[in-house]
Amino acid sequence: MLRIEQHRLVGPGVSQQATPNTGGALRPRYLVLHYTAGRDAESAVRSLCTRKPQGNASAHLVLGRDGQIVQLAPFDVTTWHAGVSQWGNLIGLNSSSIGIEMDNAGLLHHEGERCVAWFGRAYPRDEVVVAEHKHGGGTQPWHAYSEVQIERALALCELLVAHYGLEDVLGHEDIARGRKVDPGPAFPLGAVRSRALGRGSDAVPRMVVTVASLNIRDGPGAEFAKLAPALKRGTELIVLRALDRWSQVAVVGSSDLEGWVCNDFIERQVARRGETAPLARTQRQAPVAARRTRPTTKSARTRTRAASARQR
Ligand SMILES: [Zn+2]
Repeated sequence: MLRIEQHRLVGPGVSQQATPNTGGALRPRYLVLHYTAGRDAESAVRSLCTRKPQGNASAHLVLGRDGQIVQLAPFDVTTWHAGVSQWGNLIGLNSSSIGIEMDNAGLLHHEGERCVAWFGRAYPRDEVVVAEHKHGGGTQPWHAYSEVQIERALALCELLVAHYGLEDVLGHEDIARGRKVDPGPAFPLGAVRSRALGRGSDAVPRMVVTVASLNIRDGPGAEFAKLAPALKRGTELIVLRALDRWSQVAVVGSSDLEGWVCNDFIERQVARRGETAPLARTQRQAPVAARRTRPTTKSARTRTRAASARQR
C-alpha cells in the first residue's frame, strides 16, 4: 500500500532520486498527468534529473510500465512539468500542481504496416491504441499504457487527491491545449479522474462518520488497537478496502492516518454543492484497466446498530 510521509511516497516499488530541477515551495492544488514520449523510464528519470542549457524539465514522479515509481522531488517543492499552461484563471500550473510522468512513447506514426515512435522504435500491434485525441486531429496510433501502470496511476491519483485535498486531476493536454497532447487517448483519464475525485457512479465513495466519535483501529475488528483519538462526526474518509463489516479508510485532511472503522457508523457522503459542475468537462468514460471489487457496506448497515455499538 502506498502512503505519503513528509511529502515523500513510501511503499513497495518506490524509489527516490533527487532532481536539481526544482523551484520554490509548493502547496499543490492540482495533479497533472503526462507521458514521457520516451524510450523507457530510466532515460526519462535521467533526462528529468539533468540540467540543460536549453531549459530544464522535471516532475515529481516517474511511473514505469512495470509499475515502479521514482520520486524526483518531494510534493511540497515545485517541479517544472507544465510549461506554458493555464487552467481557468490560473496561469502557469507548475507552482500549484504535482506532476506525474508516465513512461509511454506517446503519439506514433505509420511506416508502412508498422507503428513507430519519433525515436524510431516500432511497437507491436498489441501495444498500440488507434484513437482520436479528444481535442481532434483525426485517428492516430498511440502507444498503449500497461495495465499495471494504469492501476498504479489510479492508486497515485487517489492517494494524492485524498492526502492534499486536490481540486482536480488534469492532463497536460488540458492545461496546454494546442501545444501538448499527453497523456493522450490511450490513457483512461476520465475514469481515473472521477474515481480519484470520488465523483460519478464509478467513483470510489467518499464516506463520512455518522456518530459523535468513532474509533479507528489497526485491523478489521474491535479487538485491534486504536490508532489515534476517535474520529469526530462528519470526518471524511476515503475507503481503501471494504469488507463486510469493516472498512480500511484514509482520513481526508489528515497527514498519514489510515486504519479500520466499523461500517455501521459511516455512510456515503452526499455530493457537496459545486462538485458536480466540472463533470461536464469529463471526457467519455473509458474503463479502468482492471476493475477492482468495491463491496457495498449496505448489508452491514442493515444489521441492528445496538448489536455492534460496543464494537465501534
Ligand atoms: Zn507533458
